[in-house]
Amino acid sequence: MIKTKLENITWSKYNKKISECTNSQLYYAILELVKNETSKKNIIENKKKVYYVSAEFLIGKLLSNNLINLGLYEEIKKILKENGKKLSDIEEIEPEPSLGNGGLGRLASCFLDSIASLGLSGDGIGLNYHFGLFKQKFENNLQKEYKNEWIEDESWLQKTETTFNIHFGDKKVKSRMYDIDVIGYEEGINKLHLFDLETVDESIVLDGINFDKENIEENLTLFLYPDDSDEAGHLLRIFQQYFMVSSGAQYILKEEKRKGHKLEELYKNVTIQINDTHPTMIIPELIYLLMQEGIRMKEATEIVSKTCAYTNHTILAEALEKWPSKYLYKVVPHLMPIIEALDMIVREKFEDKSVYIIDDEERVHMAHIDIHFGYSVNGVAQLHTEILKNSELNNFYKIYPEKFNNKTNGITFRRWLLHCNNELSDYIISLIGDEYKKDSIKLENLLKFIEDKEVLYKLDEIKSIKKKQLKDYIKATQNIEIDENSIFDIQIKRLHEYKRQQMNALYIVYKYLEIKKGNLPKNPITFIFGAKAAPAYIIAKDIIHFLLCMQELVEKDKEVSKYMKIVFIENYNVSKAEKLIPACDISEQISLASKEASGTGNMKFMLNGAITLGTLDGANVEIAELVGEENIYLFGEKSEQVIEHYAKGDYVSRKFYENSPLIKEIVDFIIDERVISLGNKENLERLYNEILNKDWFMTLLDIEDYIKTKDKAFNDYLDRDRWTKSMLINIAKAGFFSSDRTIKEYNEDIWKLK
Ligand SMILES: *Cc1c(COP(=O)(O)O)cnc(C)c1O
Repeated sequence: MIKTKLENITWSKYNKKISECTNSQLYYAILELVKNETSKKNIIENKKKVYYVSAEFLIGKLLSNNLINLGLYEEIKKILKENGKKLSDIEEIEPEPSLGNGGLGRLASCFLDSIASLGLSGDGIGLNYHFGLFKQKFENNLQKEYKNEWIEDESWLQKTETTFNIHFGDKKVKSRMYDIDVIGYEEGINKLHLFDLETVDESIVLDGINFDKENIEENLTLFLYPDDSDEAGHLLRIFQQYFMVSSGAQYILKEEKRKGHKLEELYKNVTIQINDTHPTMIIPELIYLLMQEGIRMKEATEIVSKTCAYTNHTILAEALEKWPSKYLYKVVPHLMPIIEALDMIVREKFEDKSVYIIDDEERVHMAHIDIHFGYSVNGVAQLHTEILKNSELNNFYKIYPEKFNNKTNGITFRRWLLHCNNELSDYIISLIGDEYKKDSIKLENLLKFIEDKEVLYKLDEIKSIKKKQLKDYIKATQNIEIDENSIFDIQIKRLHEYKRQQMNALYIVYKYLEIKKGNLPKNPITFIFGAKAAPAYIIAKDIIHFLLCMQELVEKDKEVSKYMKIVFIENYNVSKAEKLIPACDISEQISLASKEASGTGNMKFMLNGAITLGTLDGANVEIAELVGEENIYLFGEKSEQVIEHYAKGDYVSRKFYENSPLIKEIVDFIIDERVISLGNKENLERLYNEILNKDWFMTLLDIEDYIKTKDKAFNDYLDRDRWTKSMLINIAKAGFFSSDRTIKEYNEDIWKLK
């Protein structure tokens, strides 16, 4: 059946048989087939519908995932094989959109997958960025940014006839809705609605990612997170956010009217999940639109407050949006009276200035709008939610204890196991059956094999296969040769000081110097990184520079490179994550305790049998509880201590440097002639000074414990019995981190869709 359908498509499209098509032709043929099959599926409908509004959807490539969810993956693989083709080669043709930056955007995509797979009615609302975040290249050991072109004539995007007018004061632009189908696993479909600026002009992008930031009639949907280091950049972000939420709000109300629902009962039929503060303006915008429909402000505010729920993703002060009210007056003058009225409501009820919406400096705190005028506030891991309740948002928790709840993040096992590690998922099925695909907790049934040498051996063998595949991929894409028998130690995530890639870099310096002194590791090690730094984040880019210099230094040193290698993967994205994670031995999750809200990379690694080396932060805490302290490598100060250091302001990195000859030696190496000769003195000195004089994220506080713990992990790796047992326990306990579980909780506690 499917075979005939695919043959018909290749005949009509290219006048060729399957075996005669190029990989590229086959990609477009299968794309068409998937779209045809999807169009036969029902749209999921429940009593109530959730709209998940998010500035980011890091969707990744969709071909294989859609095939899996349609139940066609194995069949297509077989058909291709019979014709001398490989699905994995065809996957390479698909361009990857970069409609997200990191965890928050990937979470939104995992959630859409789970919402549909659970048969829940829910659509995503976001923006159709033509060039996404940016494409990263390394030149002269520096990050360079280029536009990421991903939109093609034939793609998953479907142009719709739905358009809206968007008003910015007296400026007016038109938005058009594009849809991507979200296919549930053995279920119906939902939609991801991406709004685009009708008059967008790709040609205004000059070199790299530079463009006129003030030309909003042409630039609004070009890039995600354009540089906001100046006023024009700030304004552009507000323009983008409003463009997204006004389009979304108009669409939601239009749908409600089409269904014959009363707008007064909006909250009975619709719930809106606000993913971080970027979509916050949907609250005043909905109030505004309901007022246009003749509903009075008081009632409109009540309706909207019962419709909107907010997810907090960070406690980093610099990441909590506070827009100067004069910026909002420029972009959305019609919303400011509403925002001021909401602020008045708050001021009448509460004395405590810290909960006001508009502060003394005339800045609008977006999160405060969400908390006062939404019905739910959730954190994304137990520890994070506790920190919100007890410190960061304590003043709000005291007012609204009933609004606060925790929803520990999760990942979709369809992408992060079935697709990226078919070898492992098939093997698991052979051991415990396939119930775990729909009921992830069933992975615990693997525990009965804990003493089974053959099973442990086989797990090790699968890991080796995935390591070999990664080795080949790195050779093919970056022309770097790595040793598949080395330990793969991987840190892949956005580059940020709180995630502390700089601490890993200092470990590498330590190991390099150890090897130089003749203290050779018993097993060679490959240190793998993948990370993009925000274009205006200077120190983050300096950390990349330092790591690339270290990569070159080690590569050129034949004596050292037998024992260690560094590979910085260029342009880290979802499809690269899918190749890296199954091959990992040690998962680096080393954020400064209290700063990583949850993390989801940590969950993907655990599910694929890597052992975590991390601090007690975010969801690492819950991983540790599940696997037990023997099956995770923990180090560093705890969140309470860190929070205390911040409160007292008593952390002085220079003291650690002066009191420890080891720390001094490795920090000094950043500006050693051997490194400087491969890079830029200015960048390296800036990084050195930052660590010595500021070190906001307390690298030197934990570095010695990190070195000790990491050395222990490398040593334990040699005991294969012990290590593979740990792998098995990690996989078996990963079921809790399925986003199906997370979404069930959202639905039961917040959305109540059916
Ligand atoms: C999962 C994922 C992330 C999030 O990783 P963290 O380690 O949780 O920060 C970021 N980027 C990509 C491409 C991912 O797949």
